[in-house]
Amino acid sequence: MALEFRCADVGVACGKVSRAESEEELVAAVAAHAKAKHGVELNDTLIDYARTKVRSSGQATSE
Ligand SMILES: [Zn+2]
Repeated sequence: MALEFRCADVGVACGKVSRAESEEELVAAVAAHAKAKHGVELNDTLIDYARTKVRSSGQATSE
């Protein structure tokens, strides 16, 4: 089951949708993107916040 994270969901004006098969991978991908594109180093607080915005892309389409 794929997971996804959208920068727009945390109020960032960015169309990036990060996807991964596990939360750990997704957090790593989001952290790399945030640093490269937004110049933001994710700390524990930001990572916890980002986790609350993670969606399951599978669920979204099936119901
Ligand atoms: Zn972004």
